[in-house]
Formats: sequence, C-alpha cells, structure tokens
Amino acid sequence: MAAPRVLFVEDEQKTRDSVAEGLRLENWQVTTAVSGDDAISVLEKATFDLLILDWMLPGPDGMDILKHARARGNQTPVLLLTARRSLDDRVAGLEGGADDYLAKPFAFAELLARSRALLRRPVLSSGLALNCGDLTLDTRTRSAQRAGQEIPLTPREVDILEYLMRYQGQVVSREMLERDVWKQARRFTSLDNVIDVQMMRLRRKIDAESTTPLIQTVRGIGYRMGPDAA
Ligand code: CA
Repeated sequence: MAAPRVLFVEDEQKTRDSVAEGLRLENWQVTTAVSGDDAISVLEKATFDLLILDWMLPGPDGMDILKHARARGNQTPVLLLTARRSLDDRVAGLEGGADDYLAKPFAFAELLARSRALLRRPVLSSGLALNCGDLTLDTRTRSAQRAGQEIPLTPREVDILEYLMRYQGQVVSREMLERDVWKQARRFTSLDNVIDVQMMRLRRKIDAESTTPLIQTVRGIGYRMGPDAA
C-alpha cells in the first residue's frame, strides 16, 4: 500500500509538531493545518486517506470542517480529537459524521492504532455498489446506471468512474489518474491529453442527459465527483 496521506488539523503547535513527526516516522504523508479555514482551503485542493481533526480550533472548529467535508460528499474517514470528555459530545461527534473519537490527552500509540484501523476500513463500504446522487456503479458486474438507465461504458471508463466515485467529494488530479488508473510512472510525455479526452467522453455519457452534472472540473488540477457544491 502506498503511504497514507493524512491531514492533521490542530492549532496547538506542540501537539501538531509531535504528532506530525510521529506519523512521518511511519512514512505517512502528513499535511498539517492550524485552523478551520486553513483546513477547508487545503481540502479544496488535495485528497487524503484520513483526516485527523482537533475539535477545538479557532474559526470553524473540527466539527464544522467535518460537516463541510461530508456536505460535499467527501467520505474520507475522520478521527476527531477532543478534550471534551462527556458522553453527549462523543455522541454529537459520531452523529456529525466522525468515524472515531479520541479524548485528549492521548498516547501517540493510541492515535496511531485508531488511525490504522480507520485506514483499513474500505471506503464507502456499502456492499458492491458505489453511489453518487442518482448514479450507481456495480463494481462486480462493472455496470453503471443513472436514474435507472443503463450507461454503456468501456473498461477504461469503468476504471475511471470507479476511482472518481471512491474519492467522491475530493479532488482527483490528473497525476492520481495517471498513477492509479493508467498505472504509469512519471514519463516524458504526459498523459494529460489522453486523460482529458477520456474524461470528456465519460462526462458526455454520465452527465449529458442530466441537469445535475456529477463530474466537476477543478481548474488546473483535475476533477471532483459529486454535485456541484460551488
Ligand atoms: Ca485545539
């Protein structure tokens, strides 16, 4: 498995630095943010395998970041950190869409164990079907339907669509498609044109008949699957 990409949001410098350093020693790719606004802007541009959010932050707090991400269809597992110990807060955190909860102060080993458990959990684990709005992809039969209508797709188009749907609500860059769908390491001739042509065909099939486009362009970076939240 590739190094997990984690976003760690914490305003308290000491905790931020020590946790980030610990995760980097595990060879994780760690991005840090110091505030809610900072975190939300990072999430607009990059994609992660796990979000570790401190609840108490200046500006939008951890719960606000979580709600913002889920409202955009972002299904990335979330570990919520908080000094609030009461059961009510714990329930609020889980109901707000957090996948797990860790009370401060915590031991780094505990944070690592909880994080690993969340990373092992399959994304959108509701069986074999992936859903986004009225679009469904059956990953076993590799068939797609939109509003109940079968959409004929080539094998490559199914690969791209499955990838976009697994990362729905998040930015999927051309580099990610090149690496994970085309399985190409860096090369001299970029696949950008090939990817753009494939994406144009896929979007025509998925979105042409609908008033609600599900594949969005993120200018200069790539694409995002989900209803346009702009
Ligand atoms: Ca804090």
